[in-house]
Amino acid sequence: MLNRPLTLILGFFLILLLVWWQRPEPSTEVARTALIMGTLVEIKVVGTDVKNIERAISAAFAVMRDEEQRFSPEIETSQISAINKATGPVAVDAQVVEVLHLGLKVARESHGAFNMGLGGLVKLWNFQALHPQAPTEEQIRALIPVSPENQLEIKGMQVKRLDPRVQLDLGGIAKGYAVDRALEVLRAAGLVSASINAGGDIGLLGGHGERPWKIGIQHPRKAGELLATIELRERAIVTSGDYERFFMQDGVRYHHIFDPQTGMPARGCQSVTVIAATVGEADALATATFVLGPQAGLAFLEKYPDVEGLIVAADGHAVMTSGLKDRLKWR
Ligand code: FAD
Ligand code: MG
Repeated sequence: MLNRPLTLILGFFLILLLVWWQRPEPSTEVARTALIMGTLVEIKVVGTDVKNIERAISAAFAVMRDEEQRFSPEIETSQISAINKATGPVAVDAQVVEVLHLGLKVARESHGAFNMGLGGLVKLWNFQALHPQAPTEEQIRALIPVSPENQLEIKGMQVKRLDPRVQLDLGGIAKGYAVDRALEVLRAAGLVSASINAGGDIGLLGGHGERPWKIGIQHPRKAGELLATIELRERAIVTSGDYERFFMQDGVRYHHIFDPQTGMPARGCQSVTVIAATVGEADALATATFVLGPQAGLAFLEKYPDVEGLIVAADGHAVMTSGLKDRLKWR
């Protein structure tokens, strides 16, 4: 029979061992990046099972690569390229139909400010060229896009161009949609705290561990500096700006967000940040708002009950939706 003190000591160590055994795994943060859709995509996950996290991050990148293969106008074999080449109906995947319907909805609600049929203009302006040049007025006029309601016929999983001039380019919505698909992969892997940032299109799963995510909004005219920060959980936040893809020519800034009426870069804003439930929707709304300009853009965003937005106008002053006022921390 053990003497009493020894029993107590052993008991104590046994409890210690049990507590140690039951201790919650320490949670770690895993961050990985990949170049997808011409953009650096960063995935951050906070969790305890590092093996599961690594597996889920690889699967999420793979899903984004799949969407790139589906949607890229730069890939000959993509479904968007197939639609742009065909005269008759093209059989596409459900993801393409889903994005086209969302894009046409935002096009309707923004009175054509959002227009997925700008592929000819995007190719003409060619921002990826070594020395991009502003095209001539004639060249631009020849490529003014068909209005969205006269572009496509979507029947089930078949999509047909209604006008041979239509050239689809989903650069303003498909990157955000791909982030949504990747978030679903992380969610399905049982993860509850993650962020995916694809060139300013950000989707958030839960909070940053126990805290909200602290998201910085890029200053549109001071590279590397923040305009403001905001704390968010389980939301999408997307910024469209004239400082991403642009060139200066004779003192004029030419950038990649076009006013479909003129075929020229939209002139009303420097940047637009939209917070919404999904990254695809926020992506399209940010592009549409940018084209509408500060006044019409703010009225447009206010129509969406669960959407918030910050607009930096061309002269640098900022306007925002009512629900955003006390949530931004200005730098
Ligand atoms: P946003 O404001 O979200 O969108 C601007 C983009 O939307 C423009 O680049 C144009 O594509 C389009 N757009 C312009 N005006 C309008 C408008 N009024 N309405 C609707 N859309 C408009 N870039 C590369 O350099 N290399 C690649 O290989 C490459 N592959 C890509 C593959 C896919 C599937 C996608 C979606 C994008 C790809 N990109 C690639 C990036 C693409 O070229 C755009 O620059 C990018 O999507 C812009 O996103 P943003 O959030 O910066 O701008
Ligand atoms: Mg966008």
